[in-house]
Amino acid sequence: MSIEKLLLKSEYTKQDLVELLGSNGADRQRLFEYASSIKESTVGKKVYFRGLIEYSNVCSKDCYYCGIRGGNKNIDRYTVSRQEVLDAVKFAWENKYASIVLQAGERSGDRFIQEISQLLSDIRELTGGNLGITLSLGEQSRETLKEWFDLGATRYLLRIEVSNPELYQKLHPNNLHHDYGQRVQQLRVLKEIGYQVGTGVMIGLPFQNPEDLADDLLFFKRNDIDMVGMGPYVEHQDTPLYALKDQLISKHERFELSLKMVALLRIICPDINIAATTAMQTLDPQGREKAIMVGSNVIMPNLTPVKYRDGYKLYEDKPCLDEEASECMNCLDARLHMAGAEVAYGEKGDSLHFWKRKGIV
Ligand code: SAH
Ligand code: SF4
Repeated sequence: MSIEKLLLKSEYTKQDLVELLGSNGADRQRLFEYASSIKESTVGKKVYFRGLIEYSNVCSKDCYYCGIRGGNKNIDRYTVSRQEVLDAVKFAWENKYASIVLQAGERSGDRFIQEISQLLSDIRELTGGNLGITLSLGEQSRETLKEWFDLGATRYLLRIEVSNPELYQKLHPNNLHHDYGQRVQQLRVLKEIGYQVGTGVMIGLPFQNPEDLADDLLFFKRNDIDMVGMGPYVEHQDTPLYALKDQLISKHERFELSLKMVALLRIICPDINIAATTAMQTLDPQGREKAIMVGSNVIMPNLTPVKYRDGYKLYEDKPCLDEEASECMNCLDARLHMAGAEVAYGEKGDSLHFWKRKGIV
């Protein structure tokens, strides 16, 4: 089928998505232009900043792809102090970022839960409850998630990693602590509690094929997701998956596939928030700007104190390890302008899809 006919179909089948993911040359360009036009007519040119605080690299899980997995003995573990978190929050607030993301390895236990609850209360006090807060702290009990929601966290990011259960099994230890069904169930719980629900996948993993990626896109649509953060898989030498590095598609191909995934997602879920992820910037210095041009509308500048950054290497070659938050902000603003976007300072930038699903807009 011609690219025009394909793009204008009212609904894409899995086969259509596989075909579009394989587009090259002028067809690829047309896909990007079309996605860009859909973006402009639904969510517009605005890009929202979420200040990212990588709160701790302590993790109780052992995902085979991740550099901070509990089993990696080659890193020093850290947790950002309460005051440092609040300083980063203050920076975000004063610079009109309007939202932050608090991310960490997955932990349970009362102490950790209380720490987060305390931080949420402190942030509320500091910002009068006017700062958008996203949590990305892995799987938690319903009670914990409800407690954090009641303390002002309104968004939660929990990537499904891959939507194919068999592939999920290959990428994680085979035990109840790493269970695909449980992960999917968490998304339902988050929705029931009232969170704006974010998920996502990695792109270019070993054993992953275009059909899997097409299924990932259909998963987001079927599950009525409000926000997505997805990006290329990048290997890390202290992980089990590193042994398969020779079987990977090239970094360039992983980047290209990720860009097409963003474009297609914008077309099939036009009103959601889509992040231009750091992993995209890792594989291409202009990766985030390119993602913004084809569909993304959220960027997460890193506000983690520089001394901890080296400790939060989920994958190799993570950028901006030594850049202070203020430097990051100035260069990003200029770069986004060049990419034709406007930074929406002072606007929380909730997911439009979320408000529509609530029947409010
Ligand atoms: N512990 C939480 C949040 C931190 S990890 C959780 O797992 O949900 C955040 C994300 O980093 C993961 O969801 C995963 O998609 C991504 N990630 C981990 N290792 C990666 C790698 N090697 N390449 C690319 N992304 C990776
Ligand atoms: Fe831990 Fe998240 Fe890394 Fe898995 S992906 S090992 S849960 S930090």
